[in-house]
Parts: sequence; structure tokens; C-alpha cells
Amino acid sequence: MEISFAGKQALVTGAGKGIGRATALALARCGARVTAVTRTQADLNSLVQECPAIVPVCVDLVDWAATEAALKDVGPIDLLVNNAAYAKLQPFLEVTPDQFDLMFNVNVKAVLHVSQMVAGGMKARGSGGSIVNVSSQASQRALRDHAVYCATKGALDMLTKVMALELGPHQIRVNSVNPTVVMTKMGRLGWSDPEKAQTMKSRIPLGRFAEEEDVVNCILFLLSEKSSMVNGVALPVDGGHLAC
Ligand code: NAP
Repeated sequence: MEISFAGKQALVTGAGKGIGRATALALARCGARVTAVTRTQADLNSLVQECPAIVPVCVDLVDWAATEAALKDVGPIDLLVNNAAYAKLQPFLEVTPDQFDLMFNVNVKAVLHVSQMVAGGMKARGSGGSIVNVSSQASQRALRDHAVYCATKGALDMLTKVMALELGPHQIRVNSVNPTVVMTKMGRLGWSDPEKAQTMKSRIPLGRFAEEEDVVNCILFLLSEKSSMVNGVALPVDGGHLAC
């Protein structure tokens, strides 16, 4: 399936590493003008070196004022990927308020904020658009030591649905992808232990973790006109884990 984003402007958060970086590069290959947002300048430097057409924006999305200042000149956005997230593993009884706040601030509150800015522009222009939130299988499966992370992704799935409901009449579609483990920096944090990894893989009918490209391809589909009647879904990219 050929997908072209020629003439479209895309914004990807958390584009410095992992799934977000791969998404930004794929969107650029498909012809979009890509704005890449993340908080580590060195990652943006290497991204722009790899793809000079990408416009880099360095900001910590937890800081709403800084985010507004950083994004005010990016221009009209047609495609938004809310990918940035933070994970800290803590047993439930040891969860700390600072980590609770940080995870909700990045994984949920910043998604709300960036989406308000971008969708507000889409609505004002009457141009429609497509937004993909990067959620997780963790929104629907209890994972040990992931209490707050799971809760943020559950909240994100519900935010996705309400955004789909309220933005749909403006021809703005909002969906999520819900991957299983991908061995990025975040994936390695939770799943480097071979025994833990094997236990998780044994619950995935396809018997493997996802690759970055598995997730990116689903994001591109949901951003594209190929999914023009799909709105408000949480698309598992999990080899069947959530089905059983
Ligand atoms: P990753 O490798 O850790 O990359 C996350 C990116 O987000 C990094 O570039 C990071 O920048 C950026 N970021 C984090 N906090 C930020 C903030 N406050 N402001 C701006 N940028 C920020 O993670 P990943 O595995 O690619 O995950 C991408 C998405 O997939 C996340 O939503 C994650 O929850 C989801 N997901 C991942 C997995 C998995 O197993 N990897 C599974 C399911 C879902 P810094 O590195 O500079 O902090």
C-alpha cells in the first residue's frame, strides 16, 4: 500500500529516539514536512544530520509555557503523532508522588496540551486532520511494577475517544496505536531480563516483540486517508496479546 503525505505538515513528539524518531523519518520519506519535538538537543542534531529536511524543536513538554513558545511558529499542522512518554517502574506499594506526577504530565497532560494547540489550528482552518496517540498494551493489561504507567495509558485511551467524539465533526480523526514491547530505550528498561522477556513473549500468539517498523506502519496508516473512516480506535500492535 503506497502512502504519500506530499504537501502535508506533520508534528511528532518524542522524536529523538525509538518509535518517535522512526516515525519522523518515515513521514519525511513519505513526503511530509516534519517537525520533530523532543527534549534532548543531541538527538535532534543527529536526526537533522540523518534527514536535513526535518525541522527540530527542543522543549520539555511538561512545561506548558515553554511548549507554547516553542511551537508558536511551526505553522499549520495536518498530522500529529503524540508519541513522547516517560516510564518509571515502581512496585505499587512504593509509588512516589513525584513519579506519578511526571508520568501523568508527560503521558497524558502534554498530549492534551499539544493536541489542543494543533487541533485548534485544524478547526480554525477547517482543513481537518489526523492525530495518532501512541498508547500501549499496558492500557488494557496489568503489568507488574507498571501501576502508574498502565494508568496513564488507560487515561490516554479514554482521552483518544473523547477527542475523536469532539473533533470528529471538524473532520479531525483521533486514534491510538497500542504496541506490545518494542526494544527501544524504554523497552529495554522493562524487558531486558531474559526470563521476563520470555514470559511476555509466551503470551503473544506471534511469539515475538514488535519492531519499531511494525508500530510506524500502523501510525502511517492511521494518519493517512487509507483509514479515512477510522476514528476513536485503539489499534493493538501486539501480535495478538490483547486478544487472549
Ligand atoms: P523512548 O525510546 O524512551 O523514546 C521516547 C522519546 O520521548 C525520547 O526521545 C524522549 O526524549 C522523549 N520524551 C520523553 N519525555 C519527554 C518530554 N517531557 N518532553 C519531550 N520529549 C520527551 O521510548 P519509545 O519506546 O520509543 O516509546 C515511544 C512511545 O511508545 C511512548 O508513548 C511509549 O509509551 C510507547 N510504547 C513503548 C513501548 C516499548 O516497549 N518501547 C511499548 C508500548 C508503547 P529523552 O530521551 O530526551 O527523554
